[in-house]
Amino acid sequence: MKQTELDELLGKLTLEEKIGMIHGSGLFHTQGVDRLGIPPLYTSDGPMGCRMEYDDKKWFPIAYSNDYTSYLPSNTALAATWNPTLAYETGKVLGKEARGRGKDMILAPGINVQRSPLCGRNFEYMGEDPYLISQMVVPLIKGIEEQDVSACVKHFAVNNQETKRLEVDVEVDERALREIYFPGFEAAVKEAKVKSIMGAYNRLRGQFCCHNDYLLNKVLREEWGFEGITISDWGGVHDTTEAAYHGLDIEMSVTDDFDEYFMAQPLLEKVQSGEIKEEVIDEKIRHILYVMNELHMLDGERKAGAYNDFKDREQLLQVALESIVLLKNQDQILPIKREKNKTILVVGDNANRRQAPGGGSAEIKALYEVTPLLGITMAAGGNMKVLYEPGYDANTSGNIWDNPDAQSEAGQATSLQDTGKKVVIEKDPEVVKARNLLLKTRAIEAAKKADMVIYVGGLNHIQDTEGQDRENMKLPYDQEALILDLLDANENTVLAMVAGSPVDMTAFEKKAKAIVYSWYAGMEGGTALGQVLFGEYNPCGKLPVTFPKSEQDCSAHNIGEFPGDDVVRYKEGIFVGYRYYDSYDVEVQYPFGFGLSYTTFVLSNLSLKEMKKLDDKKTFEITLQVENTGNQTGAETVQLYVGAKSKEIERAKKELKAFQKVTLEPGEKKEVTLNLSKEAFRYYNVSTMQFEVEDGDYEIMVGTSVTNIMLTDILQIKG
Ligand code: BGC
Repeated sequence: MKQTELDELLGKLTLEEKIGMIHGSGLFHTQGVDRLGIPPLYTSDGPMGCRMEYDDKKWFPIAYSNDYTSYLPSNTALAATWNPTLAYETGKVLGKEARGRGKDMILAPGINVQRSPLCGRNFEYMGEDPYLISQMVVPLIKGIEEQDVSACVKHFAVNNQETKRLEVDVEVDERALREIYFPGFEAAVKEAKVKSIMGAYNRLRGQFCCHNDYLLNKVLREEWGFEGITISDWGGVHDTTEAAYHGLDIEMSVTDDFDEYFMAQPLLEKVQSGEIKEEVIDEKIRHILYVMNELHMLDGERKAGAYNDFKDREQLLQVALESIVLLKNQDQILPIKREKNKTILVVGDNANRRQAPGGGSAEIKALYEVTPLLGITMAAGGNMKVLYEPGYDANTSGNIWDNPDAQSEAGQATSLQDTGKKVVIEKDPEVVKARNLLLKTRAIEAAKKADMVIYVGGLNHIQDTEGQDRENMKLPYDQEALILDLLDANENTVLAMVAGSPVDMTAFEKKAKAIVYSWYAGMEGGTALGQVLFGEYNPCGKLPVTFPKSEQDCSAHNIGEFPGDDVVRYKEGIFVGYRYYDSYDVEVQYPFGFGLSYTTFVLSNLSLKEMKKLDDKKTFEITLQVENTGNQTGAETVQLYVGAKSKEIERAKKELKAFQKVTLEPGEKKEVTLNLSKEAFRYYNVSTMQFEVEDGDYEIMVGTSVTNIMLTDILQIKG
């Protein structure tokens, strides 16, 4: 439809009809206007696929069989691939699935910066670096929206913890906002032209983010030129007048008193009494009609999508494969040598656990999920014996989101009251202790007899979950002791961790010969793990987040500002993630960008070339050579960090500004070209309230992680 037709449509709407379009009238949709051919807007979570169907008004799963769906790798897994093409392909699958299920808006991706290793929702996000997030989120959104479905990038902004998430007030300086917390959202709006954005539950500088004048009006609309829909998080609205005037288009919540929502009857009354102008409502409708038109919801020429298309599984497997990070491989214990290892013992609850149903609103009713145990057995084949011992019992407790016993009336229904509440159900500790002792003894005995042990542990969605942060980085269920005993029982033990965020591995890291880290990697996650362990695929994932030795080393924690109290002060400023550890020489377990391969690479011949004057266009071309010096095909991600040598302005020692993943045959060399524009050197000047580039020297550092820098040079910037 043309703009004039959309304007005409708007003109025909009554005030009541408009109000119906701007608030939930079911748990996941708004009201349409049948007489004018305007459909309701159907939304669905979330980042790991299209969520199961709930009753329209109550949080009861409908539980028919037609909402089994593809379970996609989590955003952290996707970010660990450092492969924007895969982000695009993943977006296409997510959009297609959502459309196939009749949705208009998929409530994804989540891109909040991982400020602490303990945030319960880290697994839904893309790591700690604003550049990496931006590079991955743009193609992901484009992929989704090509399918005539709106992405909904969330949660804007500074939603970096679950503790007190519904009310906590974040105080953060403007520079950190602009350099760390905004860039992913800014790229989503400016480059991907995302059609929808979700406000965060928390407050920023005293005002709730879902009706925060600065965030939604000033930054999003005025500065970034956002034209799409702003939607509240479910229950994130607290005031009718603010919601009306501060840039929110649609209010959603978790309760079924839809007419009582702030933007329902109360808003209608305020408009009728003249307290709020109707133009304000019209503006919201304009955004909604604009998006509906872009998605072809008004002209009948819309893509139909499809879900559970078997062809897409290859794509999801590829993401899972590329996401696995090899952290240690002493004595080349991996890949598994078939001739030497006829009996393999798999230990650990995560080997046998399906992760899809957990995590909060990111839960998925997966069509299937290949567990690590299944994936390893599939890869092993019939000439090997694969045995399994759980080693510990992980079903001893649960939280409000993930404990089926506690969930009947709870889960999201009571999420506005229960946030931050801990475990609801605990089993008798004596029984748990006895059972765990038995499981452990059995595992150790079996480990002594096996040729090799693969331990699959880590976290699950009882820890990596919405509504709750972890207390520390320690592994739950006494896994540390079990791992140490297993390593004593059989030195041919490989550790495979499944988790959404970093865990403390310091107690056994030195003793273990091999460690691989796999995230919640979707329905083919187990297949990918099996293929990597057996060498059918050469690992190439890189950490999108630093693994500190302890949460106490993290900047937010060591200044006492995680999770904070009613107000959290982000006094660490721009020193988040590696910007802190690296600049302040804090030793970590594994640095940002780290990940090994079964082959080796050498970087050489760095050359810098100035292309144009320093303007917004491409300005510097950096070339180098990458060579595969080992004996198998593999991929390396070349990472370029810029270090400003400024004396005036406090800068991080290194900032990621370009990267490229290259696949090379054994012995093959390739030239890699990376471009740096003005943006690579800028910082946010709080006095002029602008990004600026200082004249001076900038170190160009190229390597394979933030600490493994192999090539350096200096660039001088003037004028
Ligand atoms: C979450 C959102 C989610 C929404 C709808 C909220 O609890 O914070 O990310 O999209 O629920 O389920």
